[in-house]
Amino acid sequence: MIKTGKEHLESLRDGRVVFIGDERIEDVTTHPAFRRAAKTVAGLYDLKHQRENREILTFQEENQTHSMWFLQAKNQDDLRKRMAAHKLIADQTCGMMGRSMDHVSSFVTGMSTNPSIFDTEKHKFSENILNYYKYMKENDIFATYAVLPPQAARNPEFYQKKNLPIPTLMVTGQDAEGVTISGMKMLATSAVFCNDIWIGNLLPLAPDQVKQAITCAVPCNSKGITMWMRQPISLNAENQFDAPLTWNMDETDVLVMCDNVKVPWEKVFVLDDAVLAREIYIKTPGHCYGNHQSNVRFWSKMELITGLASKVTQATGADQVPAVRETLGRLAALEATLSGIIHGQIEAAESWPEGFSTFNRRMMYAALNWCTENHSHIIDLLRELCGGGVFQMPASISVMHDKDLRKNFEEYFQTPQMNAPDRMKLFRLAWDVVGSEFAGRQQQYEKFYAGASFIIRNHSFREAPWEDLDGVVDNLMSKYDIPEPGIKEAAAE
Ligand SMILES: Cc1cc2nc3c(=O)[nH]c(=O)nc-3n(C[C@H](O)[C@H](O)[C@H](O)COP(=O)(O)OP(=O)(O)OC[C@H]3O[C@@H](n4cnc5c(N)ncnc54)[C@H](O)[C@@H]3O)c2cc1C
Repeated sequence: MIKTGKEHLESLRDGRVVFIGDERIEDVTTHPAFRRAAKTVAGLYDLKHQRENREILTFQEENQTHSMWFLQAKNQDDLRKRMAAHKLIADQTCGMMGRSMDHVSSFVTGMSTNPSIFDTEKHKFSENILNYYKYMKENDIFATYAVLPPQAARNPEFYQKKNLPIPTLMVTGQDAEGVTISGMKMLATSAVFCNDIWIGNLLPLAPDQVKQAITCAVPCNSKGITMWMRQPISLNAENQFDAPLTWNMDETDVLVMCDNVKVPWEKVFVLDDAVLAREIYIKTPGHCYGNHQSNVRFWSKMELITGLASKVTQATGADQVPAVRETLGRLAALEATLSGIIHGQIEAAESWPEGFSTFNRRMMYAALNWCTENHSHIIDLLRELCGGGVFQMPASISVMHDKDLRKNFEEYFQTPQMNAPDRMKLFRLAWDVVGSEFAGRQQQYEKFYAGASFIIRNHSFREAPWEDLDGVVDNLMSKYDIPEPGIKEAAAE
C-alpha cells in the first residue's frame, strides 16, 4: 500500500515523546518548530498519488502497489527505476532533506536481498529481516536510523570510575518476549517525522562490546524512548520569502534516549555479535542501496547550487566576465561529474547477491567521498559569486507593506538586470544555501551524515581491488630488469 500525506501525519500523532529543551512537544504535526517540515514530508507521500508520478515512484507486486524504494533490483533496469524515484523525491527539496523516506527503507531493502547473513550459530534472524522488509513495504513505513554511539562513549573508564552506566545504547535485559535496551544513540535525522527508528552500529565494535551489538527496529512511540531535539531552525523564519529553505525543510536531528525499551524478538536483527553488527551493512547491498540514494540526493542539491550560481551572476551582471564564466563552467563540470558517477553505478552494476543486481559499490563509495570532500568548496564558490549582495537587502520583505519604504526599495534596490523584489528573493535563497543557520546545518550534515571522512575513505579502501591495482605495477615492472653491462651503449645505438 502507499500512504497519503494525511495518513502519514496521522500516524505521527502517536504519543511519541519529543523534547525541545524542557518543552514536551504534544504534536509534531502542529508545533511551530516542526509543522512546516512535516507538511513537506506529507507532500512527498502525496507525490505518489499523482498520476504523472505513479510510474516513477511505485511498482506493482502481487496486485499491490508499493513505493519504488522497496524494489529489490534484479537487473539494471530495476536499478534505473530506483535511481529515478530517488531523484524525483530529492528534487522536491533540492536535496535538502537527506533522510527522506527512501533512505533507510533502501538499507532494509538491500539487506532483504541477502538475508542469510542474519543467521548465525547463535541466532537465526533472517526471517526477522525479511518480515521487517515486508512490514515496511506493505505499510509504507518511514524509518530513520541511529547507528552511532555518542562521542562520550569512547571513554568508558570515565563512567566506570563514577559508577555510572556507559551512555551508549546496549542490551540490559532479555526474556521470552524479547530484549530490553537502554542508553543513547546519535543522531536520528527526521526521527520526529518517522514511524520507526532502526538502531544499530555502523562503526566496528570491539569484541568486548557485545552488549552494544544490538540491531533492532523500534516504533518512535515505544515506551521509554525520548527524542531530544537540537535547536530547531525553522523558528528563525517569519515567512518563506525571507528564508525559503529554513521555512519548511528543517528535517530535524534528535538524540535518541532509551530507558528500558522493550523490543520484541521479531524486531531484533543482530544480538551479541560485534562483528555481524557492522557486516550486515557491507555484506549485503544495504549500505550500497542507502548511500546510492544519498548520492542522488546530493545531485539534486548540486543542480540547485549550479543554477543559483548562474542566476546570481546574471543578477549582478557578472555572468559576462570571463573569469566568472570559468567558475560557472567549473560548477557545471562538477555537477556533470557527479551525474556521471551516479549513472556509472548502474552501467557497471554488480550481479550480487545471487539473483540480484546492485549498484557498483566502488563507484557509490567514490561518489560518497566526492560529495563529502567537495561540498564545502562548492558552497564557497557560490558564496564568492554572491559577494555582499546577500546583505545589501532589507531585513525583511515586509518593506513591501509600507508605501514609502516600498517606493525606496523598488527604486534603489533594483539593478539593470532585475527588479528589487525578484533580486531579494534570489539572494535570500542563496543565503539559505551558503550562510544561514539552515546552511550551516547542511554543511555539518554533508560532512558527517555517512560518518567522518576517514570512515568514508575506509569504505573505498576496503572495496578496492588492491591485487589488481598492485598487479598493474608488477606487470609493468616485470617488463624490465637490472640492465646487463653495456646495455646503455646498445640503447644509444
Ligand atoms: C547533521 C547530522 C545529521 C546526522 N544524522 C545521522 C542519522 O540520521 N543517523 C545516524 O546514525 N547518525 C547521524 N549523524 C551522526 C554521524 O553519523 C556522526 O556525527 C558521524 O559518524 C561522526 O561521528 P562523530 O560526530 O562522533 O565525530 P567524530 O568521529 O568524533 O569525528 C570528529 C572529528 O574527529 C576526526 N576523527 C575522530 N576520530 C578519528 C580517527 N580515528 N582518525 C582520524 N580522524 C578522526 C574526524 O575526522 C572528525 O573530523 C548525523 C550527524 C550530523 C552532523
